[in-house]
This record gives sequence, structure tokens and C-alpha cells, in this order.
Amino acid sequence: MTSSDKCLSFHLQEGAFKGHFCRLSTSITDALKMHNYPLRVNQLLAEMAAISHCFSADIKSDSKTTMQLTGTSPLKLALVNSQDSKFFRCCATLAQDTLDSNATDTLSIPKLFGQNGKLVFTIEFSNHSYQTIIELSAANLQDCIQHYFIQSQQIPTIILLFSKSSFKATESAALLLQATPESPGSNLFEFENDTWHHLSCLAATLKDHELLSSGPAMEHLLNLVFNQLNPVVSRETSLSFKCTCSYERIVDILKRIQSENKSNMDEDLHIRCESCGKKYSVDKVSIGS
Ligand SMILES: [Zn+2]
Repeated sequence: MTSSDKCLSFHLQEGAFKGHFCRLSTSITDALKMHNYPLRVNQLLAEMAAISHCFSADIKSDSKTTMQLTGTSPLKLALVNSQDSKFFRCCATLAQDTLDSNATDTLSIPKLFGQNGKLVFTIEFSNHSYQTIIELSAANLQDCIQHYFIQSQQIPTIILLFSKSSFKATESAALLLQATPESPGSNLFEFENDTWHHLSCLAATLKDHELLSSGPAMEHLLNLVFNQLNPVVSRETSLSFKCTCSYERIVDILKRIQSENKSNMDEDLHIRCESCGKKYSVDKVSIGS
């Protein structure tokens, strides 16, 4: 069996281009198994988790990242949190009337989120945070993010994003390729680089079954496809599902809500974590009511 659930960071052509390749299988299946989301939602969360880890791998220091897609109906929220680029959790909120339906299985991103859907990606460092907002106008997540890098950031970028979901298991893969400051040409419109064109042609040959866990071992695949551009893997990060909820964190959140609303809780609360399903009972005395 091919090993998955990791992200490989690599460079090509002596650092002129960088890449991150993330493949998720057991971890994303674990993260989704306590939910009963439509398969389309499972696929979307799996793709978000894979590309989030490519972004996290691009950040040199430890951080928390959150990718959040919001809209109106049938999907209100899809969210992936990751911690130190190693652990992640995910959840979604569907509009009430579609909870038991699989009608979302074939919907494009704008149809999943309705009008004014947006993607918010937040990176939290120990003393500051950074946020990016992307409009959800393209049909799929891959094109929404690639469009953002090319139009707003003017960074030559290729993103490949695939997922597969059945009632038993879910898997996904993301490949992010980007020019670096060492590449000739400072922005996309000046970017006349034969090697980038060559890289684009090689990436276009990759099929979903090769990038997903049915494909060759990850490092072997990079060597097979990008052999002419001297791929060198610089880092490998293992990924797993882990929820960061705790009784103490729940109590802190409730205290904050109570303080903001300037009112006391009338009775004890029973709360279920949206990400892992763990249940907490909090008595009103613990939150100072
Ligand atoms: Zn939890």
C-alpha cells in the first residue's frame, strides 16, 4: 500500500521553482467519519485540507491556519483548522433543508455556497495573524485559488486538486507549483520563461489517479514527472487528524460569550464539538453564573 497522509516540499531547477505535494487518505477519512455529510461536502473538505497543508508547508515557522469557505445555501460553512502543519480537523454547516439530501453531490462551488461565497485563509503566529480573502467565483476550488494567485498576487502558480469519496473512505491530493524570486521575470506579465512553460506542460500530464493514493509513492512520482527539472525534496511532514477541543477551552469560550452578552447562563450546558463529536457537560458554576 502506498503511504499517504503527508506533505512533501520540494524545489526544481536549482530553486527557480518551488512545490508542495500533499496526499491525504487515512487522516481525512478519520476526520470525516463521525460526520454524515453528503459526499460532495466530504470531497470539498478533503480538497481544502490538502491545499491548506500546501500553504502551511510554505510557512517557515509554526503556526495555526484556518481555511474557511462561507456562503448561504445549501452550504453555509466548510472549515479546516490545522495546527503546526501536522494535525488538522474539519467540519461543515449545511442549511437545514438539505441536511438529509445528497442533492449537493454534483454542485459547483458557486452553486454550493450561493451568492457572495468567499474563502478566508487565516495564518496565526504567536504574536500576529495574516488573512487572505478569495472570491468563490470559479467552478471548483482549484480554479478559485489559482485565479487568486495569478490575478491578485501576480505569481505564476499551478494548482492541481483532486478528491474521491465513497461512504467508506475519502482521499485527496494537492499539488502547488510556484515560481520563486530566483526565477527570471519579476511578475506574471513579464514572465517569459521557457522552463516555466516546460514545467506547466509536465504538470498537465498528471492524472487524478496518479496524484491520489492509488498512484506511485509520492517522491517517486515527483521524480518520474519532473525528472528533467532536477526535483529535490527538502521537507516531509506527516499529517493526521486531531481535534484541539478541551473542557478548558469550552469553558473559556462560554465565559467570553457570557461577558460579551452581559448575561448569565440559566442552566448547565451540554455541548458537542462540531469537529470531533466529543460531548462536554459544563455546569453554570464553572462559567461563573
Ligand atoms: Zn473536538
